Amino acid sequence: MRVSNLFTKTSKTSPSDEVAKNAQLLIRAGFINKEMAGVYSYLPLGKKTLDNIVQIIREEMNRIGGNEISLTALQQKDAWEASGRWSDEVLDVWFKTKLANGTELGLAPTHEEPLTKLMKNFISSYKDLPSYPYQFQIKFRNELRSKSGLMRGREFWMKDLYSFSRDQAEHDAFYEKAAEAYHKVYERLGLGGFTYKTFASGGSFSRYSHEFQTLSDVGEDIIYVHEGKKIAINEEVYTDEVLRDLGVTKDELVERKAVEVGNIFTLGTRFSDVLDLNYTNEKGERQKVFMGSYGIGPSRLMGLIAEHFSDEKGLVWPENIAPAKIYLVSIGQKGSEAAEVLYETLGAKGIEVLYDDRDVRPGEKFADGELMGIPYTLTVSDRLVESGQFELKSRSGDTEARLLTQDELFASISVS
Ligand code: ATP
Ligand code: MG
Repeated sequence: MRVSNLFTKTSKTSPSDEVAKNAQLLIRAGFINKEMAGVYSYLPLGKKTLDNIVQIIREEMNRIGGNEISLTALQQKDAWEASGRWSDEVLDVWFKTKLANGTELGLAPTHEEPLTKLMKNFISSYKDLPSYPYQFQIKFRNELRSKSGLMRGREFWMKDLYSFSRDQAEHDAFYEKAAEAYHKVYERLGLGGFTYKTFASGGSFSRYSHEFQTLSDVGEDIIYVHEGKKIAINEEVYTDEVLRDLGVTKDELVERKAVEVGNIFTLGTRFSDVLDLNYTNEKGERQKVFMGSYGIGPSRLMGLIAEHFSDEKGLVWPENIAPAKIYLVSIGQKGSEAAEVLYETLGAKGIEVLYDDRDVRPGEKFADGELMGIPYTLTVSDRLVESGQFELKSRSGDTEARLLTQDELFASISVS
């Protein structure tokens, strides 16, 4: 991608009502646009970054048998009335609207009800189970406070997977697999070292649910971390009884602030009971389908990563999710000619390059590449072309700027 072809521009300022660091940086770097509190549009670089996060989650969900779908945002009330969740008192984050004839509709804040209803068309026998549909969908929630940028949207992206199993045993086995897949996702996103499987309140079908909580000073949740066991306990279930149950003591735990980046939940037959989702087992008996739900917030993750991996110059994306691997800066006439060739060559090698081909001062190019958080800046100048060299500098600062020949450059880029 050429910077001259990007319609977005970087900016030294962000809207005065934007208090979250993640959104301030993402707006200044041209990744997102603020529409109103908790509602953001994704611009080319932001869309690319979000897509990279989504793709990592998709690969891990497909690996455990997920079937990707896309459900509707517009919801009729019948299935939600059956579950008791149409009421604004029960589910207090609804955005609702009406058809011209007065029929009430809602904008989905989650999808247990419509999916359970839909699966009635496909599940009738034990042979139809288990099944693991999932989607990436914009959810609508009228959150009371929405001041954390992408981390708490009123319109936000969620990956939600639902499991439909024959019985609790089949469910439990999948639940463990899903927890493993979640660990892999956070590992690949660069959050593995400080993301904890956290015991939280369950429902009528299991003692606990599990949240995946990433340590962060801007987190809204309080958790108690057991470093040795790599687990944590949400303050909502932090009782002597739970400590005993998990075999840990208070003095082994450290209180930390954290952001919930995912959540897995045993639903049991809560929804299949009220929506009549049944199947016939091998003995010909009618049984309720046993369900679970598994959420991850890709847009919250993008905000959290932006917030966490940043410095005074701007964003610092981990390579896996950066919108490009290299920010190519050309300086001077000969530099530009060489950069054009290099841009094509790197592209042909499948390396994502953001090429700053604009006619602006070098300092402006470097500053923009740094603000955007692209992992490597590659400089091609008249002077360097004469000596047959390129300068490669890592954004994270973990390696010094290096002068490389073209061969060294290609070797270095393809391994890192
Ligand atoms: P929270 O307690 O933070 O409100 P939640 O328990 O309501 O989260 P779930 O309903 O389990 O969240 O949603 C699944 C995932 O979606 C969460 O783990 C989180 O990563 C993400 N998520 C939830 N609410 C938001 C939001 N308002 N903005 C962005 N992401 C969100
Ligand atoms: Mg919530």
